Amino acid sequence: MLESGLIESLPDLPAPVLTIYLDTNRAKSVNRGLEPAYLISLKSRAKLIEERLYPESRESFREQVGRAEAYLRIHSPQSKGVAIFTGRDSWEFVPLEAEVEDEVHWGAPDLAQLFWLLDEHKPYGIVIVSRKHAQFFLYWLGEMLELEDKEFTLEPSKEKEMGPVARSGGIRMSRGTNRDVFEHHVDAQYARYYRQIAEDIQRWSDAEHFQSMFLLGSVEMVKAIQKELSHAVREKIVLVEEDLGWVSRNELHQRIEPIIVQHEREREMALVDTLLGNDRGLVVGIDETLARLQQGRIRNLIVIKGLDASLKRCDECLWVDRTMDPVCPACGRERCTVTLREILPELARRYKISVEVVSGEAGRRLQEVGGIGAWLWEFERKEYGEHLTFA
Ligand SMILES: [Zn+2]
Repeated sequence: MLESGLIESLPDLPAPVLTIYLDTNRAKSVNRGLEPAYLISLKSRAKLIEERLYPESRESFREQVGRAEAYLRIHSPQSKGVAIFTGRDSWEFVPLEAEVEDEVHWGAPDLAQLFWLLDEHKPYGIVIVSRKHAQFFLYWLGEMLELEDKEFTLEPSKEKEMGPVARSGGIRMSRGTNRDVFEHHVDAQYARYYRQIAEDIQRWSDAEHFQSMFLLGSVEMVKAIQKELSHAVREKIVLVEEDLGWVSRNELHQRIEPIIVQHEREREMALVDTLLGNDRGLVVGIDETLARLQQGRIRNLIVIKGLDASLKRCDECLWVDRTMDPVCPACGRERCTVTLREILPELARRYKISVEVVSGEAGRRLQEVGGIGAWLWEFERKEYGEHLTFA
């Protein structure tokens, strides 16, 4: 699984770096065999870049291309996609379980596609409870990582828990009463077990700021745990009333993936609906959204996957907009051409806003207002529903 420490270190890789994104999905027949499509794509893209380089840069460029190609030949990628960052003193190979588009860049590490993928695939917490144990998984970018497996063992009943029944005069109890006492003891232990799981979920949610968490288990269990959660966490919990404590890891992944996809679709639709259904505290369209974003007035942004446009950016103050004026309106310096796809993730990180990347039906609806929109800071959260919280 991708590590957040790695993501933070990537922008600091010393240039020039060869950045490679490849669709290596082996489910596609073109990606199997001796000369898989991703290698052909790498070589043809590299050739185009090399032709544009100054002759003195070509050797070091070719060296990095050769290094990546040799690695890919020896280690056929097993993931749907890969990102590679390779330079004279650096090498990062990032397997990605997501749909990746082929890209090759030379120069500063190019993180745009990776950031788009990160905005599209938010991490989720998954908790699977059964009568034997509670498993905690982090689900991110199509991968499931088990973080903890808490076994539940029934402790032998102690006098204290037997309560007043056990103390009642030292009379030998009938079998029926013994069973009642035992059941009471079991219930009390399960109640404590559920409370502990709820506390763990609560702490985990507070630490990770998940947008959503999935709690899977029998109806009785998930309901009992849900009752113990705070209102804010309960809002984020998606209950799945299904006992999956026994299935293999592979089956679990296959069972959970469609649940997550469905949840994401519904969430995206709900977000787009609020955006289209309100006119207060919202902005839509590329121009308005970019301007408000750079004024620091945007809190959350929603955009169609891969939305693009040609923009001009000032080399000095970094102001960016769609007007084709070669000179910056703010400081009068020269401007260069950039694309929205390149700079949106960078802007979002600079202004610390959360971005939702939508596709499918939600994407088609968002297209009606230019494919992008945002919530402004001055807008009260309660007006668009507590359940539509962002990370
Ligand atoms: Zn400027």
